[in-house]
Amino acid sequence: MLVRGLLTTLKAFLTEKTVTVQYPEQKRMVRTRFRGRHVLRRYEDTGLERCIGCSLCEAACPADAIFVEASENSDEERYSPGERYASTYEINMLRCIFCGYCEDACPTEAIVLSDNYELSFHDRASAIYTKEMLLEPVPPGGKPTPQRTPPGVYTRAIPEMSDPTD
Ligand code: SF4
Ligand code: SF4
Repeated sequence: MLVRGLLTTLKAFLTEKTVTVQYPEQKRMVRTRFRGRHVLRRYEDTGLERCIGCSLCEAACPADAIFVEASENSDEERYSPGERYASTYEINMLRCIFCGYCEDACPTEAIVLSDNYELSFHDRASAIYTKEMLLEPVPPGGKPTPQRTPPGVYTRAIPEMSDPTD
């Protein structure tokens, strides 16, 4: 009986495909609809922040995990193409249930749930992800925010969207 058991183990060792992933060196692929860590996006051409501080994500969040505080843009100190920007943006990851409602509610596609599942923290304070943590890096064609922009270019309360129903 013992020999039979050992033979079964040996057979599985030699013939079956390895399922162990050597994390963190090797990352497991996720499904295309996977919802992971949030990212606050920028516009690729200018580097301006997509978030206009409208708080629709905060209103849509069923877990009350998001806190947004908006401030006014000016041409001397511009963060987003809209009238306002998020001066504070926080997500409490201990509350978040990764439903994606914030992503769906956002009119400028600023907040998205990425495929990053590395969400470890050691205390409650570290579970509050701030705007600085969530904002993506400046893209190659853009500039960091705040930016000085020419007068009369950004006059809309919310930026133009190619297809608002998209
Ligand atoms: S994914 Fe859902 S629970 Fe998490 S912050 Fe967005 S709306 Fe709230
Ligand atoms: S992330 Fe989107 S929905 Fe939330 S405040 Fe910014 S623009 Fe509004």
